[in-house]
Amino acid sequence: MEYLVLAFYGYVEIEDPQREVKKHQLFLKNLDVRARIYIAFNGINGQMSLKKEDANTYMEWLKDDPRFSSIMFKIDPYGEHIYPRVAVKCREQLVALDKKPDLSHRGKHVSPEEWKKMLEERDENTLLIDVRNSYESEIGHFEGAECPDLKTFREFPRYAEELKRKKDPKKTKVMMYCTGGIRCETYSALLKEKGFKDIYQLLGGVIHYGHEMGNQHWRGKLFVFDDRLSVPISDKKHEVISHCHHCSAPCDVYYNCADMDCNALFLSCPECAERLQGCCSEKCIHAKRRRPFEKQENPKPFRKWYSYSDTKEMNDVDCCSCDQ
Ligand SMILES: [Zn+2]
Ligand SMILES: [Zn+2]
Repeated sequence: MEYLVLAFYGYVEIEDPQREVKKHQLFLKNLDVRARIYIAFNGINGQMSLKKEDANTYMEWLKDDPRFSSIMFKIDPYGEHIYPRVAVKCREQLVALDKKPDLSHRGKHVSPEEWKKMLEERDENTLLIDVRNSYESEIGHFEGAECPDLKTFREFPRYAEELKRKKDPKKTKVMMYCTGGIRCETYSALLKEKGFKDIYQLLGGVIHYGHEMGNQHWRGKLFVFDDRLSVPISDKKHEVISHCHHCSAPCDVYYNCADMDCNALFLSCPECAERLQGCCSEKCIHAKRRRPFEKQENPKPFRKWYSYSDTKEMNDVDCCSCDQ
């Protein structure tokens, strides 16, 4: 494996995010790297792939800054870059929500080891919530987790409001998890505002759990917001818990619909992908702006915010979400 994938975030005060963005851009110029890094007044959130030596250079450089010295890096080897380019950008908030919860009231961080124990000792008053979007939990989640039907990050506040009405916030203990931990920082604060008091969040998210505990109590794969789309959480063999959108065969490979104006994310087995030319429906096969179908074992995402020029180069136009 030639490259290392780094995922990290830190809630720290950054006085001048613009300046920090420039500093990053300048430093990354000299490394073999592809990245998506967001910097806001209240912190930094990044995913990147780098050559091994360069990964160490970057981590040391970042940690040299006292504001970032306690950042936890989640590290995975991978055979190629995970993004088409380097994007370092300013954000108003690290996790895009319309409302800003008070982050000083968050849940309690739980190490992977404690988390495993808590899963095993869970009683009926403990609610295990997968706070990610439904297309993420569909291909993998913890056993017995409640997987809310959320299409975007911004829908979580609505879910929190519903939950308050369904469960007694005073009697319900909440265990929540996300990919790398950052969403739980905001969402746990939001649930606290709704009156839930006893909240536990998985430190470092599923990525860190997989590194420490392997597949124990986890079923399926982990969705990631980069070219890999999904990854096993450990070296152990994983089961397939989801199904082809067309024929219902067991399958956990995502495609973006080849009709660029549809671009829907859907699961498809290789046979159906070929039969429908990478489209989500019969209708989309006849669309005007359809990408030619290429048979691939691990199809890469085509985000709507990528526009295509004649040279087929992808330009990241922008997206409005956090990535962990
Ligand atoms: Zn199929
Ligand atoms: Zn479609």
